[in-house]
Amino acid sequence: MSGLSVIEPATEQVLAEVPRAGVEETDAAVARAKAAYPAWRAVAPVDRAALLHSLAAHVAERHEELSRIEARNVGKPIADARAEIEMVVECFRYYAGAPERLLGQTIPVAGGVDMTFREPLGVVGLIVPWNFPLTIASWKVAPALAAGNTIVLKPAELTPLSAIELERIAVEAGLPEGVLNVVVGPGSVCGRRLVEHPDVAKIAFTGSTEVGRGIAAGAAATIKRVTLELGGKSANLVFADADIAAAAAAAPLAVFGNAGQDCCARSRILVERAALDEFMDALRGEVEGIRVGDPLDEETQMGPLVSAGQREQVASYVPDDAPVAIRGSAPDGPGYWYPPTVLAPVANDDRAAAEEIFGPVACVIPFEGEEEAVRLANETIYGLSGSVWTGDGARALRVARAVETGVVSINSNTSVRVSTPFGGFRQSGVGRELGPDALHHYTEVKNVFYATEEG
Ligand code: NDP
Repeated sequence: MSGLSVIEPATEQVLAEVPRAGVEETDAAVARAKAAYPAWRAVAPVDRAALLHSLAAHVAERHEELSRIEARNVGKPIADARAEIEMVVECFRYYAGAPERLLGQTIPVAGGVDMTFREPLGVVGLIVPWNFPLTIASWKVAPALAAGNTIVLKPAELTPLSAIELERIAVEAGLPEGVLNVVVGPGSVCGRRLVEHPDVAKIAFTGSTEVGRGIAAGAAATIKRVTLELGGKSANLVFADADIAAAAAAAPLAVFGNAGQDCCARSRILVERAALDEFMDALRGEVEGIRVGDPLDEETQMGPLVSAGQREQVASYVPDDAPVAIRGSAPDGPGYWYPPTVLAPVANDDRAAAEEIFGPVACVIPFEGEEEAVRLANETIYGLSGSVWTGDGARALRVARAVETGVVSINSNTSVRVSTPFGGFRQSGVGRELGPDALHHYTEVKNVFYATEEG
């Protein structure tokens, strides 16, 4: 295996050197997972539940260490990293309840008894991105294990460190060897091999819509199951009857959280024209006050971007003649820094408003009335997330139902909870993660008929 230098985005220094896997190592990981599968699926539900609780407890014990790994490797504020590792623990705990609740049905039929079982798929390939490395991994690992599958997990090459730790922690927690295998290598080699591998039953992927398209096409060759959690360009709809101060206070971190590298980023802020001036005035103070700096500083709210390439891509959306209305601060010197930036006013079909920037750049798009708000919100290839801010309850529900996204929040900018389904409409993806729905994507339904008539 060749070597991979993992870079710390806040310093541009090498944080760790790890071996880089290729096709051979990926095949070996699949073989280990395949060998471990019969015994793992046969583990009694109560024992599988106990092992998931043990995994949660072992991650919780390493909470601070994992938070620091994530903060340094991704460049995210330590406070955010701690919250994310708490979510990882919560996710394993939540799905620890699942093995004993994978219920089937009995269906009335003539001549016998008909029953259904939810059976595991086998070896599943989990391909995760660099923006929330261990969190997004846990959304896939926890339900996959709970349902009785074995796993090959491929983290992004930029951020493999927490996944490498998770593989060790799983063994410490008592999971049998081979149940959870991590492969660190390029997506175009290891990820692709997982997609093509005949012994991999399913791919669960989070990443760009472009790579997701390739995975869906590649998976077709072996009729693999796929769950795709892809890009977004979510709308934050602010009506004039909303609490404008509250909407403006919440809007910045809904875009600039994780330095904008968030598929749920509310990067299109649609504001009713009657409230535009008031909103922009309130927004200015909030954006200029965002503390951008060292991810390990307890006060930091936004860190650097993950890589030089990502910063270059983000900057391409803000050419010299861009309508920059508000600009926050960013440190000088080493690190892939980019200041929080608000473009206004922007048309919904401008490149910055139409494409996923995946950086701290928000577009403010004025609208007149509810009909235009919904039309603009839906004029996108994406459909992941979104928010509605209004004081009118009926309007809140009307608009929430009309916006074509997988998750919507009212007078709030949250998208993700361990116990509720998460995923996209349209080109934001296929399938749902988290909540009760995720389990269905890691199981097949088997129908069994048992004849009971005599003779
Ligand atoms: P990618 O979609 O390229 O990467 C996501 C994961 O897929 C990584 O583990 C990557 O591996 C792997 N991968 C890459 N190519 C293949 C392939 N051909 N077959 C199988 N797996 C593959 O996202 P990027 O990291 O390059 O980010 C690019 C853009 O994607 C961002 O700017 C953003 O717009 C979007 N994105 C969206 C995310 C979301 O949460 N929805 C998350 C991340 C990105 P490796 O990186 O190791 O090569």
